[in-house]
Amino acid sequence: MLVVGGGPAGSTIAALLAEKGWRVTLLEKEHHPRFHIGESLLPHNLPIFKRLGVLDQVEAIGIRKPGADFNSNLEVSGHHQFHFSFALDKNHPFAYEVRRSEFDNLLLRNSAVKGAQVLEGMRVTRIDFPKGGDPEVHAVDEQGRDCSWTCRFLVDASGRDTLLSRHFNLKQKNTHHASAAIFGHFLNVDRREGEYAGNISVYWFQHGWFWMIPLRDGSMSVGAVCRPEYLKSRKNSPAEFLLQTIALGHPEMRHRMRNATLFNNEARATGNYSYQSTRMRGERYIMVGDAYAFVDPIFSSGVLLGMNSSVRGAEAVDAWLRKDAAAEFLFRHFERMVLRGVKTFSWFIWRFNSPGMRSLMLNPGNPFRVQEAVTSLLAGDVFSNAGARSRFWVFKFFYVMFSVKHARESFRLWLLRMRNPSITFTGGTTPVDIER
Ligand SMILES: Cc1cc2nc3c(=O)[nH]c(=O)nc-3n(C[C@H](O)[C@H](O)[C@H](O)COP(=O)(O)OP(=O)(O)OC[C@H]3O[C@@H](n4cnc5c(N)ncnc54)[C@H](O)[C@@H]3O)c2cc1C
Repeated sequence: MLVVGGGPAGSTIAALLAEKGWRVTLLEKEHHPRFHIGESLLPHNLPIFKRLGVLDQVEAIGIRKPGADFNSNLEVSGHHQFHFSFALDKNHPFAYEVRRSEFDNLLLRNSAVKGAQVLEGMRVTRIDFPKGGDPEVHAVDEQGRDCSWTCRFLVDASGRDTLLSRHFNLKQKNTHHASAAIFGHFLNVDRREGEYAGNISVYWFQHGWFWMIPLRDGSMSVGAVCRPEYLKSRKNSPAEFLLQTIALGHPEMRHRMRNATLFNNEARATGNYSYQSTRMRGERYIMVGDAYAFVDPIFSSGVLLGMNSSVRGAEAVDAWLRKDAAAEFLFRHFERMVLRGVKTFSWFIWRFNSPGMRSLMLNPGNPFRVQEAVTSLLAGDVFSNAGARSRFWVFKFFYVMFSVKHARESFRLWLLRMRNPSITFTGGTTPVDIER
């Protein structure tokens, strides 16, 4: 079988299937270690690391992330710390912050150790699906030579390049949630004190929100997620624009960055990233991770959703390759679980910038253990924890009440979203510049 893409999703499914004894070829267009954005992980990544046998390696390159803090000085102001140790299930009290070049590299090498044949510098250009036959994969190597393979089963893990979704024209952009991001790595930024030094900090501001993610080498990843029309207003270099945007940020964030320098004076951007395909599997193929859907980075869910889809996908593909009658059931289970993850995070994400949600996040209470349940869901416990899922309904009710309290501002935001479809702003996986 063949996997396109050596990000977290591709490396996970390649490792799991190779471990089961299947002959797996993984094609990656770049050479690891390579830059990628998405550095903050979730606690429910850890059981997957254990299963892959890489937990110690992740611990060695990452720093522990006990939670997140949310900060605002807008119409709803305040500061709130989210601790994963507060979740309903107390077994997963922390996650990791990692440099993705190192993290993706160790996962890719692990798939090779498990027996997958990993070919880097191999860009897949076309896939043919002969009726009733094996998929044919065409690629070009770095010398420009054409190469091709046939495989019994194909896994698309090509990330935001969405190879199969584009091939079959299945990609649907979420026009009401258009967002774009600009980011860089900074030196000399203050971390949180003591045990919370590994927290991700989130700061709302007038054009969206900022992340601050501390990394093991002492640097800090800082990015702004904004409405695309704000990024399109840029008249200077990406680095200057990032600094100019930071100057609009929350006072505490600016204080933490008062001595900061932008590493290599380099900023990157990506845009228009909310999309979902209309299906995630077909005859002899599945899509995993961002190749199927990506919603938004706010709750650091992308890597977990991608790796989890690969764990479920591996079970189904293994059964299919063995011609086991349970394969269809397992493919349906894979689809249900992937959709559950995407839907749960989408619910939070689409409301994140609303005053009702800000108000709830910054003034949390714990009636009926609702805050513990929300902490569980945001730790990535979205697939099996029935207690968390049932309390989610109570949280939704509170959200409606808080939105009514901030009805005018909520309505203004809704209007803004409805206008978003007229804006086009495109971006690939990790472009080095803002596209106009
Ligand atoms: C601004 C921003 C911030 C984010 N922050 C976070 C975060 O803090 N935490 C988090 O969990 N997630 C975050 N994400 C999301 C996260 O980056 C992705 O969800 C995650 O990387 C998905 O993994 P993947 O393996 O599906 O895809 P990717 O990691 O994108 O891997 C896909 C791989 O496929 C390769 N490829 C693509 N096309 C081809 C081809 N034709 N031939 C061969 N190889 C190919 C690519 O080179 C790449 O290595 C963020 C995303 C954005 C846009």
